[in-house]
Amino acid sequence: MCKHRRAVEARAAFGVKGPARLTNANKVEFIVPGKPGTLYIVATPIGNLDDISRRAEKILSSVDLILAEDTRHSRKLLNRLKIKTPLLSCHERNEDKVTTKIIARLVSGSNVALIADAGTPLISDPGFKLVRQAHGSNIAVSPVPGPTALIAALSASGIPPDRFLFEGFVPEKTVARRKYLQKLAGESRTMIFYEAPHRIKAFLDDAITIFGGQREASIARELTKKFETIRQGKIAGLTEWLAGDADQGRGEFVVIIAGNKDEDKTANKSDLTALLSVLLKSLTLKQSVQIATELSGAGRNEIYALAVAMQKKISPSHKEPDSGDNLLD
Ligand code: SAM
Repeated sequence: MCKHRRAVEARAAFGVKGPARLTNANKVEFIVPGKPGTLYIVATPIGNLDDISRRAEKILSSVDLILAEDTRHSRKLLNRLKIKTPLLSCHERNEDKVTTKIIARLVSGSNVALIADAGTPLISDPGFKLVRQAHGSNIAVSPVPGPTALIAALSASGIPPDRFLFEGFVPEKTVARRKYLQKLAGESRTMIFYEAPHRIKAFLDDAITIFGGQREASIARELTKKFETIRQGKIAGLTEWLAGDADQGRGEFVVIIAGNKDEDKTANKSDLTALLSVLLKSLTLKQSVQIATELSGAGRNEIYALAVAMQKKISPSHKEPDSGDNLLD
């Protein structure tokens, strides 16, 4: 096949408007006479479809192409908005391939919008490679802000919102998750996590072990949807509440955990866990807590909560001490 023909075919395959040619190295080079297009990063609702912004609607109707994670899912939103713009799927598995194709289209002058299944693209969602490459190719990247679960949850959480750390999803496997959370034990900023319904219980159990059951937290479930629930309290209480109502274990979750307010006074939680695990092997709960308090300088209540949680893990049938033995102030 002649070079010209292959270049024409490549142009058609990439959906590029301008001319193209094959270089000596057999690479396709697009010859672009006009201005490149813009890549719009468009936030869409996280549940309630009325949360779409007017600007998002305008941009989605006017661009040449919309990139969506799951095109069938996004089609429902677009149908409701009566938007007929073509959709192309862009998810974790095809992001590399799609990125090359889309950069070529943007370079040739097409305007493209990226959306996620819900909320703001790139926030625990694909699109980072595309945005990086767009910058590298001198293509304008413009955000169309709107819903995102972490900000919605934080704003309604009752947990200090001034300084926060967004952690997104933590590792799925137990050992990796615990290690990960342990690194956050001394974190003084509010921490925000995304969690799947089938892992929420395990996540909260580990949060009790690492941060202590008395740490303030908030659980935001099914935000903006019919069964929206937002609860604030101590992690131990929230875990109990969730375990007591099977319906509360369904849906989508954001967990917000207050930062460690005693970071200077309190020993690193991983050190405490290690210390307690040694003490609990040969001493009673009360003795272990007493020694750990003296050695670490950390709060007695915090150590007590950690020791109880650890002891439950070691021997699930363990009975908590009666009120006379209870160390809480
Ligand atoms: N890009 C999205 C955003 O801007 O928030 C997040 C996508 S991430 C793949 C999906 C996770 O976000 C869910 O597992 C859940 O943790 C959180 N999430 C999304 N929608 C939510 C909602 N309506 N209520 C609570 N959490 C939600």
